[in-house]
Amino acid sequence: MPTRLTRRTLLLQTAPSLLGGALCGHVAAAGKLLDEQSPEAKALGYKGDASKVDAKTWPKWRPGRTCANCLLYVGLPADTQGGCTLFYGVEVKAAGWCDLWEPKP
Ligand code: SF4
Repeated sequence: MPTRLTRRTLLLQTAPSLLGGALCGHVAAAGKLLDEQSPEAKALGYKGDASKVDAKTWPKWRPGRTCANCLLYVGLPADTQGGCTLFYGVEVKAAGWCDLWEPKP
């Protein structure tokens, strides 16, 4: 006898796979670093090591400015890399920098 499909049964049957997919997507994205050679990184002068930034090309860079002390950085102080609200699905190095750096308040 076929089961009557209701909103409740549909939700109960699909929620585990939706949740699993979301978790797997999160795990897959965690740790994946922004490629310095990607167009979006190059457009903003992103370097994983801020000391390697060419200050002539990127005059907003100053010693001591890194992703770790940027307003847009989503990482804990002890983390070597973390998320950036600017770059979806990848992480940036805590020691990195890009031209949209903003100081944390
Ligand atoms: Fe780093 Fe901030 Fe640029 Fe993101 S916006 S890459 S945290 S300097």
